[in-house]
Amino acid sequence: MDADVLIIGAGLAGLVAGNELVRAGRKVAIVEQENGRNLGGQAFWSFGGLFLVDTPMQRRLRVRDSFDLAWQDWQGSAAWDRLDGHLPEDEWAAQWGRAYVEFAAGDKRPWLEEQGVRFTPLVGWAERGSGTAAGHGNSVPRFHVPWGTGTGISEPFADKARTAAEEGSLTFFFRHQVDGLILDGDTVTGVHGTVLAADDAGRGIPSSRQAVGGFELRAQAVVIASGGIGGNHEQVRRWWPARLGTPPSDMITGVPQHVDGRMLDIATGAGVRLVNRDRMWHYTEGVRNWDPVWPQHGIRILPGPSSLWFDALGRRLPAPGLPGYDTIGTLAILRNTPDIAQYDHSWFILTQKMIEKEFALSGSEQNPDLTNRDVGLLLRSRLGRGAPPPVEAFKKNGEDFVVAGNLTDLVAGMNTLTDTALLDRDLIERQIRQRDAELDNPYSKDLQVMGIHNSRRFLGDRLTRTASPHKILDPAAGPLIAVKLHVITRKTLGGIQTDLTGRAFDTAGHPIYGLYAAGEAAGFGGGGAHGYNALEGTFLGGCIFTGRTVGRSLAALL
Ligand SMILES: Cc1cc2nc3c(=O)[nH]c(=O)nc-3n(C[C@H](O)[C@H](O)[C@H](O)COP(=O)(O)OP(=O)(O)OC[C@H]3O[C@@H](n4cnc5c(N)ncnc54)[C@H](O)[C@@H]3O)c2cc1C
Repeated sequence: MDADVLIIGAGLAGLVAGNELVRAGRKVAIVEQENGRNLGGQAFWSFGGLFLVDTPMQRRLRVRDSFDLAWQDWQGSAAWDRLDGHLPEDEWAAQWGRAYVEFAAGDKRPWLEEQGVRFTPLVGWAERGSGTAAGHGNSVPRFHVPWGTGTGISEPFADKARTAAEEGSLTFFFRHQVDGLILDGDTVTGVHGTVLAADDAGRGIPSSRQAVGGFELRAQAVVIASGGIGGNHEQVRRWWPARLGTPPSDMITGVPQHVDGRMLDIATGAGVRLVNRDRMWHYTEGVRNWDPVWPQHGIRILPGPSSLWFDALGRRLPAPGLPGYDTIGTLAILRNTPDIAQYDHSWFILTQKMIEKEFALSGSEQNPDLTNRDVGLLLRSRLGRGAPPPVEAFKKNGEDFVVAGNLTDLVAGMNTLTDTALLDRDLIERQIRQRDAELDNPYSKDLQVMGIHNSRRFLGDRLTRTASPHKILDPAAGPLIAVKLHVITRKTLGGIQTDLTGRAFDTAGHPIYGLYAAGEAAGFGGGGAHGYNALEGTFLGGCIFTGRTVGRSLAALL
């Protein structure tokens, strides 16, 4: 035996599972295809937002939340509809969903604080949903931001694993790529794979796939924590659901290349049951990174509620296609509307006043104030004059940004960013003027304007995320800004079906002895704990919850 437990993947889920096992006195081996610089996987790059329910931070901002409200929201978002018949795909997904909301309303925050995670007072209102109480979306702000952003979540667990490695209870096998599971009869007893050539590429930079040898490792149990498929457009296209029309021919990539989905195909080949593979979470507000780390590197704008959203032909998107409301609903509009589905982009039009207060960029490297825990910079960049420096850098250098002093020049600039000029200035002006006319009263029939007023009733948004309502064509709010938006791949909502201890199932619906799964590879629990939609900030927590559960189950068993 090379260890008690072998874990495939040194991302957040693998690290959390490994640390739980080490704490219980078990020997762990973590097998990772990238080098040691990539410890923490996607979590290191993430914004670090965490879905928490009924916290002191919410109460300080006068948000009243409860488990019941969060569970109502989660069920409305998940819309699990595969609960009947033989081996229903949502059977365990729904149970994991419920357990996760209990975790988010209970042990999650205190346990994370015990692990060394520290929270800022900021609570965002992400994914406000489709506009009905029982439907998709967060009824209240729940997106808690930690100091350090993604690094503030991943590094406490990476540090513990580094210490365990120094003490000899955990062994890292970096540059070891798993190609298959080893089965003795019906029990998984190890993995085999390829040793990749040494490569000291920086974090997130694609590394060599040159093989220099093979390996076999054996243990009492194996945990698949290999992440999702977002870095592999071929897989995204393969599993793209018909309900979202056709996949865009041009997408940008919101995750490093190692999020390749390859291990999920290997698991399928070994008879492991994967479910809900057609459920994914890709954003429609992606921009090309002017300073890329990985191929086709895109950054997601975390938008406030005021930008006007137009399709490729210059028509305002219908609700729920509003910034920050309904990720998959907006994707469905863009991919299913017949005369725009052939185009792969849409547009925001906004003002300088809006970008200063409302634009944030997802990713640890895009938020140096929070990531470096620099309170002075945080106050200067979020509450001072001008947009935060990373947003200004995109405005200045990003190929998807157009800035102009008047609408004629703005639309002319937008038309230079497509092969043919698709936008009619007068059509756009008419719609902006119609919207601006809704601002003469403190109430409105325009759903987006109503949303802006609603947003400003939440103290957190009023202070940091929602510009005071103003007319887009008011020169005092300018210059005007347009942003060409792309579909950016990110999360995988389906995956390996697991029971509530994290054991993986085979295609006949029986647990496979010795095989467990955690994190994105397990669809964040049960092969689909989110159902069709996520409430945001739920992915890192999903890795933590499933990783901790698997670690504790195995520690109790072995
Ligand atoms: C920019 C960005 C922003 C995000 N923001 C948020 C946020 O604010 N809130 C939130 O909740 N979530 C966020 N997420 C999502 C979240 O970070 C991920 O869903 C989560 O970190 C996935 O962790 P994981 O451990 O399951 O997988 P990963 O982090 O993908 O780790 C899997 C590891 O397995 C390795 N591996 C894969 N196959 C093999 C193999 N065959 N052999 C050996 N090794 C293998 C990979 O190299 C990788 O290191 C964000 C993600 C990104 C990229």
